[in-house]
Amino acid sequence: MRARLDHLVSSALQQGSAVPAFTCYDFTTALAVVSAAEEAGRGAILLVAPKTAASPNGPRLIAALRGLADGAGVPIAVQLDHAADPELILAAVAAGADSVLVDGSSLPYEDNIALVRSVRADLDGRGNADVVIEAELGGLAGDEDRAFGADAAGSAPAAGLTDSGQVEDFVSRTGAQLLAVAVGNVHGKYQGEPRLRWDVLQDIAVRTRIPLVLHGASGIPAEELVKAAAMNVGKVNFNTELRTGVLAVLEERVSAHRADGENLQALLGQWGDAARNFAADALRTLAR
Ligand SMILES: [Zn+2]
Repeated sequence: MRARLDHLVSSALQQGSAVPAFTCYDFTTALAVVSAAEEAGRGAILLVAPKTAASPNGPRLIAALRGLADGAGVPIAVQLDHAADPELILAAVAAGADSVLVDGSSLPYEDNIALVRSVRADLDGRGNADVVIEAELGGLAGDEDRAFGADAAGSAPAAGLTDSGQVEDFVSRTGAQLLAVAVGNVHGKYQGEPRLRWDVLQDIAVRTRIPLVLHGASGIPAEELVKAAAMNVGKVNFNTELRTGVLAVLEERVSAHRADGENLQALLGQWGDAARNFAADALRTLAR
């Protein structure tokens, strides 16, 4: 069943857990995530990267993921990730996304607020008041779609950290329903040990009641994700490790499947297994 992303996250937080969100560049991965969620009996979020959404068949993939969510045995939400282009956001919503990360984090503070507000107004004006908005404050280092990661020893540059002093004002003026934070988390691979700034996360958590979101969870130890969930982090985004797992399977198995009569079906089955195992681990970790 499809679920509102904010409701899914709030009910997880009430139980002291967080909801994992997985970047799905393709339908095989999305199917695997939904199967893992059904097996775990827990909700999950399917993320669509902005480049995927903007590709010629992006709207069809979003529609397919929405169909998958509708038919799932557990609550599933479909979110457009990291989008700053209002036209792309409206197109993704029209295709079936029920939530969007309106990412104005690279803009000056006031422009970030203005972007979120204008997207909210656009959505409301088109009868999409039920579309859930996540906003982002502070800059996340690294590349979302490729595993280059941070330049420093696992931490984002200090200037990129979320300024907790801005949180109350930002949340009330944007009307955002979830807040993505930069607390030392990075997109891509961490170089060295990730060092989350618990002091900053704590400062943010006491200043707003809306659920917080941790991007770049790949590489952060399970116990730290659990600790974050206790500090109002209700949504945790995974991408890099999922890709690593799938690519490892392809690398290892592709020649065997080529030799086996070009058995693409078997290869896709193993792709799905790798994604499902990864999602099952993340669901188990965050359920604690
Ligand atoms: Zn992200």
